[in-house]
Order: sequence, then structure tokens, then C-alpha cells
Amino acid sequence: MHRSRRDIGWVMTANGRLGVLITGGTIGMQPGDAGLAPEAGLDACLRNALGERVGPFVELSPLIDSANAGPEFWGRIAAAVVSLVEDEGCSGVLVLHGTDTMAYTAAGLAFLLLGLPVPVVLTGAMHPIGEVGSDGWDNVTGALDLLASGPPAGGYVYFAGKQIPAVHCSKWRTQTTDAFVRTLRPTAELSALASPPWTYRKLVAPARVAVLPLHPGFEPAALEALVEAGIPGCVLECYGSGTGPVADPRFIAALERAHARGMVVVAISQCPEGAVAFGHYATDHLMKSAGVVSGGGMTREVALAKLSVLLGAGLPASACRDWLGVSVFGEV
Ligand code: ASP
Repeated sequence: MHRSRRDIGWVMTANGRLGVLITGGTIGMQPGDAGLAPEAGLDACLRNALGERVGPFVELSPLIDSANAGPEFWGRIAAAVVSLVEDEGCSGVLVLHGTDTMAYTAAGLAFLLLGLPVPVVLTGAMHPIGEVGSDGWDNVTGALDLLASGPPAGGYVYFAGKQIPAVHCSKWRTQTTDAFVRTLRPTAELSALASPPWTYRKLVAPARVAVLPLHPGFEPAALEALVEAGIPGCVLECYGSGTGPVADPRFIAALERAHARGMVVVAISQCPEGAVAFGHYATDHLMKSAGVVSGGGMTREVALAKLSVLLGAGLPASACRDWLGVSVFGEV
């Protein structure tokens, strides 16, 4: 296994044990007949390289390509993180994860682990750590440096030298190791601005919700199908500051039916640096009065995670709608 020289001597400043949770992803993959696939053993490799200064190491089973991660997987990761903190006394946790859905998991964990008094940092790699020149070692050592520096409790992604708050992160690139960006949407402090009715102490099982992007020629039957399937929540990716094809009466009728059936529909902007601001255009009130709530500047990753956790927490639809407009970490 190849490793860079810069991994020696950094966690000396750690003021407690740093747990490592391995969930899968390219970082620990090996080439097989069908292409790269997760393989057990990264824990032993890291233990060897990092020595006694880091640990315990926990490897989830099965390890997955993060394309297969869903809200249930976030719940498994959250439970393992809580156990590392509460049972093993870790003062910070490094989560190794595939890059494809890392930003979603980071957002999911931020909400699920609300109140956990330690930092949780996610990282991974664009190239397997066993490959010469892999970005994996730099990401692992950089993420451990970040944890050892004692950042405020909360969720972070560390990748290619960047430290990104968990609720402001998106995967942006596939052809370079600098794969993630800090999203440039309106932000606030990375601290709890309100006291939500859930915490890490009673782990929520996040619900499965849908994401529906509007597009020219949008077919309202797509929304109706979600309503008929009993999906409890939907992130509606709107144009610009929150507009949609309100001139199509079937669109408004589908939104009204969704609301009547208890589905929570939250609008976000498709623009990478955009935010929903209902009231800007005369037509906005049609969406609002059909029950759509504004997701402000939330990214898709964050809106999906927040809606999943709110619904999983068992809050009634009306309370979920209220909480979607409240900034817990500056995500709105
Ligand atoms: N497909 C991989 C995953 O997300 C990609 C990666 O880790 O870079 O698990």
C-alpha cells in the first residue's frame, strides 16, 4: 500500500481518541473483473499506517459504493458514530465514505447527530488508497489534522485541502481530485439557531423522500405518481427564485392534491447560487397557496436530508413545513 510521507506525527495534538468509521467508497476499493468494488481490509491498512494514535477503527459490513446509500444507511452510520463517542470515548470521528453521495450523507448526519458534542468529518478519495499517487492519504491525514485541531462540534467534509461545513457541500467535479465545493448560497453561522424537537440521543430513522426537478415540458403526472405512491415528502427543484409552470392547471391541481394527502413539498432553486424567495413574482402565490413551502437557499442535498429527518422524527406535516423554514445550521 502506497502512502505519502506527510502522515507522520500529526495527531499528537489530539485531545482524545479519534475514531474511524469505514463505510466504503473508492478509497478502499480494489479492481475486479467488473471494475472497482469495495473490499474489506482498509481498517487494518490504516491501523498499520497510523499506529496507536488513532482508533478504534470500525468497518461497516457490507462496505458499499456510496451510490447505494440511502437514508437507512445514514441511520446506520449515525448509530456507529454515536457508539464511538459514547461507548468508546472518542473526541472526534472520521467517516470514510464514497464521494458520489458524500454530500448527502454529510447533510443527513448533520441533522441526525444534532447535539452530539464532538466534530464528525467525512472524507474519501477519487482514487483507491492502494494506488500510487492516490489522493486518499492526503485526505485521511488532512481530515485527522482537522479533527485534532479541535473544531467546533458539528459535521464537516474535508477533501483536497478544503474544509467544508456539512450543510454547504456539493460534489462538483468527477475528473479531478478536487471534487467538492462549498456551495455559495446564503449562509449563516455553523451553530444551532433553534432547538429542534430531535437530537442524537434518540436516533431518528430518516424517511425516504423524493426529488423532482421542474423543466420545460414538466409533466404533472410525475408528481401525481409520487402522491399516489404515498411518498411523504418531495423536494421540488424550481427555477430561479422559486418559479414553476403555474399556468398549467394540472400542475397546481397536483400540488393541491399532494398537500391534501399530507405530502410535504419544499421548493429549492435549481441555480447553484440561488435561493427561493416567494413573493418576487406575481405567480408565486399560486404555488404557496397550493401548499409548497420555501426551502430558501438549501441545496438539494440539504433539503433532502432535512426533510427525511423531519418526517422520520414523526413530526406532523404542518410542523415539518414550519421547521423547513427554520435555520438549524444556517442551511436555509
Ligand atoms: N462510486 C464511488 C462511491 O461513491 C465513488 C467514490 O468514492 O469516489 O462510492
